[in-house]
Amino acid sequence: MDVLYHALGGVAIAKSMGSPDLLAAAAAAIAPDIMGIIPFYSIKFTEAIRIPGNTFTQTYAHLLRSNKFAGTWDMAAYRSTHTLYGAAFFSLCMFVVFPDQWRILSISYLSHILIDIPTHEGDFATRILYPLSDIHIRGLNWSTNLKLFLFFWLMLAVIMFLLWQT
Ligand SMILES: [Zn+2]
Repeated sequence: MDVLYHALGGVAIAKSMGSPDLLAAAAAAIAPDIMGIIPFYSIKFTEAIRIPGNTFTQTYAHLLRSNKFAGTWDMAAYRSTHTLYGAAFFSLCMFVVFPDQWRILSISYLSHILIDIPTHEGDFATRILYPLSDIHIRGLNWSTNLKLFLFFWLMLAVIMFLLWQT
């Protein structure tokens, strides 16, 4: 799902666990994308500026929507942060650095991976055991499937509404 969705998912997790630190949970929930997608965006940016003419914006948007990695580096970065091993490493780091909040931060990070499983397809399908296994579910692409997108947002809206009623 999109970054805003993941951030609000982290907020909902923190709220449900009684934590006042909603922003930290939001940051942990978007960490897989922030850490894992930068090489993809950088490589596509470099590809777009190489194309002559005045079409950078269109070309860049087209390349980002391609849903295909440029090579092994951007693929490895993305998949490393979207795996259970990446989540375990993140959790260990949070345990050391933020011992009072590591549970909420770890669950927020893990929520990102679980949400991405049914909402990504193709190259970006979540490989939860990467790099040891390529096993994955053929989900649907949230950016091209409006029904899926609205369903997930509606579910989150209901959860947020219920959380803020109590
Ligand atoms: Zn993601």
